[in-house]
Amino acid sequence: MSELTNASLIATSLAEVKATVARSVVQANRDPDSVQLLAVSKRKPLAAIAAAWKAGQRAFGENYPDEAVEKIQAWQAVHPDRDAQWHYIGAIQSRKAAVIATHFDWVHSVDRLKVAKKLALHRPERRPPLSVCIQVNLDNEVNKSGVAYTEAGELADAITQLPQLQLRGLMSIPAPRENLAEQRAVFRRLSDLLEQLKADHPQVDTLSMGMSADLEAAISEGATIVRVGTAIFGSRDS
Ligand SMILES: *Cc1c(COP(=O)(O)O)cnc(C)c1O
Repeated sequence: MSELTNASLIATSLAEVKATVARSVVQANRDPDSVQLLAVSKRKPLAAIAAAWKAGQRAFGENYPDEAVEKIQAWQAVHPDRDAQWHYIGAIQSRKAAVIATHFDWVHSVDRLKVAKKLALHRPERRPPLSVCIQVNLDNEVNKSGVAYTEAGELADAITQLPQLQLRGLMSIPAPRENLAEQRAVFRRLSDLLEQLKADHPQVDTLSMGMSADLEAAISEGATIVRVGTAIFGSRDS
């Protein structure tokens, strides 16, 4: 049984993930409110989102624009009184920038200026600036999304010239590591980069790092948003 669509299973899993986050925050001597849990609901039905919402979850992460917009619109139609925050965390094709800018509150995966400009161009005027993070390719993996470590500063400078976007910080999806020490070492590099960025952009406050398998290491190294799918909603294989 790989699908955890059952509402009570989702509530139980969510509580377990929150407990893990809380434990890691205490171990790291950090403020309990300094880490936000993003529930990654890609390829999960609206019923799964509703189950997590009922259990207190408000922020949801999605990867695929067409699927996500369909779900966001359905959510707003079915539950107009239930506030939820939508975070886009997937790769961005520039032809999808308009729908992403229209329907999301946050975008974690900005990795080139062309996309940043398109998001800015299409951000509806009635909405507040889109919160964005720059995705960094920490392992220099070819064919992986993310700006090179050494180019993040330049992209940050350019993004802050776009009033429709609000630069919030950095995001990364490092390749899996063998052990906690190695996980921490790679997250520390992103944390160091955020500190460097703060010299020119003191408003940045977000480190989006850590998923189901490595959220403890990420919190130890300063993550302010952990993006967790499988540990809340179950496996996506089917
Ligand atoms: C799918 C995904 C996640 C969640 O991964 P899990 O291992 O299921 O927790 C987090 N971040 C991004 C960018 C993803 O694509």
